[in-house]
Amino acid sequence: IARNPAEHEFHQAVQEFTGAVMPYVMANAKYDDGHVLERMTEPDRIVIFRVCWEDDNGHIHCNRAWRVQFNNAIGPYKGGLRFHPNVTQSVLKFLAFEQVYKNALTGLPMGGGKGGSDFDPKGKSDREIMRFCQSLMIELSKHIGEDTDIPAGDIGVGGREISYLFGQYKRLKNRFVGTLTGKGLSYGGSLIRTEATGYGVVYFTQHMLNMRNETLAGKTALISGAGNVAIFCAEKLINEGAQVMTLSDSSGFIYDPDGFDHQKLAFLKTLKFVKRQRLSEYTENYPHAIYHQGKRPWLIKADLAFPCATQNELELEDAKLLVDNGIQLIAEGANMPCTLEAVKYFQAKSVLFAPAKAANAGGVAVSGLEQTQNSLRLPWTREEVDSRLQQIMAHIHRQCVEYGKEDGGINYVKGANIAGFVKVADAMLAYGIG
Ligand code: NDP
Repeated sequence: IARNPAEHEFHQAVQEFTGAVMPYVMANAKYDDGHVLERMTEPDRIVIFRVCWEDDNGHIHCNRAWRVQFNNAIGPYKGGLRFHPNVTQSVLKFLAFEQVYKNALTGLPMGGGKGGSDFDPKGKSDREIMRFCQSLMIELSKHIGEDTDIPAGDIGVGGREISYLFGQYKRLKNRFVGTLTGKGLSYGGSLIRTEATGYGVVYFTQHMLNMRNETLAGKTALISGAGNVAIFCAEKLINEGAQVMTLSDSSGFIYDPDGFDHQKLAFLKTLKFVKRQRLSEYTENYPHAIYHQGKRPWLIKADLAFPCATQNELELEDAKLLVDNGIQLIAEGANMPCTLEAVKYFQAKSVLFAPAKAANAGGVAVSGLEQTQNSLRLPWTREEVDSRLQQIMAHIHRQCVEYGKEDGGINYVKGANIAGFVKVADAMLAYGIG
C-alpha cells in the first residue's frame, strides 16, 4: 500500500488473490523462497502517454493513456483497452493483474496486460472517435506487436474502435498481422468473438449447476450492464431456457416482468450498439417494463445474478438483499464487480460464486483463437470456434474444481486463483531470478 498509494482497485485485486493463494504458497517452499508473490505484484512496465485530438469544432483536447504490461511469463501480453472517464492507473493495474491469471486459466499461451484512456466516448461523433483512436495508436504502436502485446476491446472499445485502431496500426507499420483482436470478420476477426465473454459465463455457470445435478432451464436471472458481455450473456441464458429479468446501464436498470426474449434483445442490440441510445428508451417500446432510474438490479428476486457492467457494482448491502431474496448463484461477467465484502458474504452464506477470472475468460480465450486463426491465415467456422470455447470453459471449470475442493464443496475463488498462480509462478521460477 505504501508502494502504490491511492491505488484502491489494484490493492483490492491483489488482496483477493493473495488471500486465496497464500496458504498454498506457504505450504510450497519453492514459491515462498523464490519471493514469487512479491515479483508477481509488480508489473513488468507501464507506458503512460498523452493523446491529443481535435473535435469537430476544431477544439484541441488532451487525454492520458496507459498500457500496463504486467506479466509475460507464459506468452505475449494480452488484454483489452478501456475508454472511460473513470480510467486511472489503479484501474488498469487491477485489470492487467487479473488478466495474467485469467489468461493462464484458459490454457492458451497468453501473458497479461491492459490499457486504455480517460477519454469519454459518450456523445462523440464517429469522426471524433476515429481521430482519437488514430492519435492514440501513433504512440501505442511503438509498444505492441503480434509477438509482444496484443490489445483488444473492453468498456468503451468495441468493433468500431478496434477497426480504427487496427487500420492506423496497419498504416504505421505496413504489416497486416494480428496485433489487435476483436477485428471485423472481413479483416482477420473471429466468429463468436463478440459473443464469447457472455456465452462463456453461461457455459461456466452450467458446469457449476451440473455439479449439483441442476440446469439453467426455468431459472430466473438478473443481469447488470447492457454492453457486449451483458447482452450475449442474456442471449445464451435465454437459449438455455432461463428467464432474464433485468439489464442496466450507468443511469439505471430495466425490469421486464415477462423476461426478455430474442425479439426484445434484437431491439436492445440496435438501441445500444447501432443507435447508441440509453436503456431507458426500452420502456417506450415495451411499456409493461419498468425503468428504475439510478438503481441497480440487485433488489429484484431471482435465482441467479450476473454482474456484467463494471468493477465494484455489487456491494455488501446488495449481497445481503440478494441472499435475503434467495439467490443461488453469482457469476461475475464484469471484472471484479463484487466488492471483497460482498464475495465473503456470499461464501459465508454458501451461495455458489464464480469469480471473473474464471467465469469471464471466454472473451480472451476466443481472442487467443483469433490470433491462432490469423497465424494460420485460415478462418474457422462458427461451430469450430464455439466448440473450442466450450472446451476451454470446461477446462477452466475442471481446474477450479481441482484446486478449489473444500469440505463444504468447491471454493471457486480459491480454485481459480491457485490454478492460475501455479502456471505463472512455475514459469517465472524456471526463468531464474528476474
Ligand atoms: P461495454 O462498454 O460494452 O458495456 C459496459 C456496460 O456497463 C454498459 O451498459 C455501461 O453503461 C455499463 N457501465 C459502465 N460503467 C458503468 C458504471 N460505472 N456504473 C454502471 N454501469 C456502468 O463493456 P463490456 O460489456 O465489454 O465490459 C463489461 C465488463 O466486462 C467490464 O468489467 C469488462 O472489463 C469486462 N469484460 C469484458 C470482456 C469483453 O470481451 N468485452 C472480456 C472480459 C471482461 P453505459 O452505457 O451507461 O456506460
